[in-house]
Amino acid sequence: MRALITGITGQDGGYLAERLVADGCEVHGLVHDGDPLVADLLGRCPSVTLHAGDLTDDASLGAVVRSAAPDEVYNLAGISSVAFSWERPVLTADVTALGAARLLEQVWQLQERTGKRVAFVQASSAEIFGDALVAPQDESTPLCPNSPYGASKAFAHQLVGVYRGRGLHAVSAILYNHESPRRPPTFVTRKITRAAARIAQGLEKELVLGNLDARRDWGWAPDYVDAMVLAARHATAADYVIATGEAHSVRDFVAAAFERAGVADWESLVRVDQAFVRPSDAALQVGDSSLARTELSWAPTVAFPELVGRMVDADLELAAR
Ligand code: GDP
Repeated sequence: MRALITGITGQDGGYLAERLVADGCEVHGLVHDGDPLVADLLGRCPSVTLHAGDLTDDASLGAVVRSAAPDEVYNLAGISSVAFSWERPVLTADVTALGAARLLEQVWQLQERTGKRVAFVQASSAEIFGDALVAPQDESTPLCPNSPYGASKAFAHQLVGVYRGRGLHAVSAILYNHESPRRPPTFVTRKITRAAARIAQGLEKELVLGNLDARRDWGWAPDYVDAMVLAARHATAADYVIATGEAHSVRDFVAAAFERAGVADWESLVRVDQAFVRPSDAALQVGDSSLARTELSWAPTVAFPELVGRMVDADLELAAR
């Protein structure tokens, strides 16, 4: 079994590569020149084969797909930050929307050429629903993105459906926020746990955030990677919401993190700055993963307090070094 992962140096890519290697899979990854996270990945997962290429470049993408000739393709690459997509909307569309189109077409051609089944898993996102009118959202919730990131993911999601109709085992895993100690601090969870740990150890004095009232459905990243593998190997292809079904506010996350770090009276240590408030931001995102639970026998294994605890503990250890 051979797998190709785009975005292999990211949080999910690393967990997925480790999991597939442990399963005995031959793992290939797409990386672009000068990716500073390659050394980290190879430290954790030395047996992966890396190919230089880019989702914006059809020629390099085609060469990588032909040379890796994978049975499973996981498209995890893209502009991963909603906040950044507001700064670079065109780049976001090129990488996240058109990049998925380029990769789907290459994978379709591989399947046509070789006649073997190739599974394609798109890491989609709750952001395709934007500020949804219904909660929780499921696979039938209308797409209504409210950021360049969400719009790009929505296009990719719909194109996955188009290729599925054409005969490709194409899956869109609609991933709600999923976190771990490997999350970069551009995401609010890691920003919070890092700051709570550093404040607890006297290394920092305050935490500056944006919208504290946003409610999100936060799960444990390795669980979400498992869901993608289950979907790739399932008899039929479909779209699946992957979520815990529980929403917490950013403020809840802050409170839980400071509590775990042993900092009382944290309110005076947190400041809101408009610079971190987005032009538009869904008030509530929470997913109904019933379909994945029944069809894939998937279930999240880490609940909210445990997730916060694992992230804070890892950051306390880092801060102590
Ligand atoms: P996203 O859901 O993929 O955009 O994940 P993030 O972790 O970046 O953001 C989750 C929520 O936290 C969003 O509603 C943000 O508006 C909110 N938030 C509040 N303050 C911050 C902040 O300082 N940084 C980030 N990244 N998000 C923040």
